[in-house]
Amino acid sequence: MNAYDLIVIGTGPAGLTAALYAQRFGLNTLVFGDTPGGSLYMIHDLANFPAFSGGGTQLGLLLFNQAQQEGATFTMAQATRLTRETGGFMVQDAMGQAYAAPCAIVASGRTPKRLDIPGNALKGVFFCAICDGPLYRGKNATLAVVGSDNPAAQHAINLARVPAKVILIHRNDSPLMDAAHRKMIAPNPGINVLAGTEAIAYQGLDTVEAITVSSNGDQRQIPVNGVFLAIGWTPATTMLDMAVDTTADGYLKTDDKLMTSVPGLFAAGDCRDKDLYQVLTGCADGARAAKHAGDYRFNT
Ligand SMILES: Cc1cc2nc3c(=O)[nH]c(=O)nc-3n(C[C@H](O)[C@H](O)[C@H](O)COP(=O)(O)OP(=O)(O)OC[C@H]3O[C@@H](n4cnc5c(N)ncnc54)[C@H](O)[C@@H]3O)c2cc1C
Repeated sequence: MNAYDLIVIGTGPAGLTAALYAQRFGLNTLVFGDTPGGSLYMIHDLANFPAFSGGGTQLGLLLFNQAQQEGATFTMAQATRLTRETGGFMVQDAMGQAYAAPCAIVASGRTPKRLDIPGNALKGVFFCAICDGPLYRGKNATLAVVGSDNPAAQHAINLARVPAKVILIHRNDSPLMDAAHRKMIAPNPGINVLAGTEAIAYQGLDTVEAITVSSNGDQRQIPVNGVFLAIGWTPATTMLDMAVDTTADGYLKTDDKLMTSVPGLFAAGDCRDKDLYQVLTGCADGARAAKHAGDYRFNT
């Protein structure tokens, strides 16, 4: 069994900042993950991060390199199972390799929800405009974005740049996005907003060819070449093989030291119950979780 002081699950802003701080606090740290920067790769122009303007991928690589330079060990493998053992925790990867540590930080983020509507097995439904929008470059495409908050706005803005004709569909009469995003959407000639409108079915044979929407009881089909969803999230905590307190939506509940209901198990970033899901708050969570994990490691 490979033994460490701390195991971190997730290579997003929360996990990488936790790894950076943990190493500097003297904890020999192992990190499970996939993409360096986690969800940062989906952000074309990172907003709300003080003193940094640029792409999310760029920040993700900086964070990853920094944590690596501090000596954190990366497996870049999925943690498939996290269990509670005598003296701490054990994490297994997909190859069955086991790793142990007296404390762990879950910084696994959250995954986008799908629409549970007819046709949802069709191809052409995506969650990342930056990753999959370029598939439609030069195709004079019409693309639907379903959602109402800042990520939905960013999908729409990025797809309009492809360029594509974008239809932004949201159920609410007024969108949940902040004022800065509304200001970017409103004057954009490539984005048509359908408020108070619900997507109720996808149409097509193999790939989505149209989306059926309902508004005030009226239904109609809108021909589209693809659909990008930003309709909510599910915390990525399926690797947790133990009883731990969560909200009804599955977000990990933490105390003021970011410890979960399980002693020695901490949570940071988008997988925990909090009031602001951003890169900055993910980094802050990572730093604080590492500090308290260090106190736990050396004082209990
Ligand atoms: C389209 C879009 C635009 C956004 N724009 C902004 C913005 O402009 N400004 C801003 O501040 N925020 C923005 N956000 C939000 C921001 O990306 C998140 O709040 C932030 O990335 C959360 O960091 P995190 O480390 O908690 O999770 P993530 O960044 O999601 O990282 C978690 C990582 O853990 C990995 N993981 C999950 N389970 C396991 C496992 N079992 N084993 C190993 N690894 C695992 C995941 O695959 C992922 O790589 C945006 C989000 C989206 C989707």
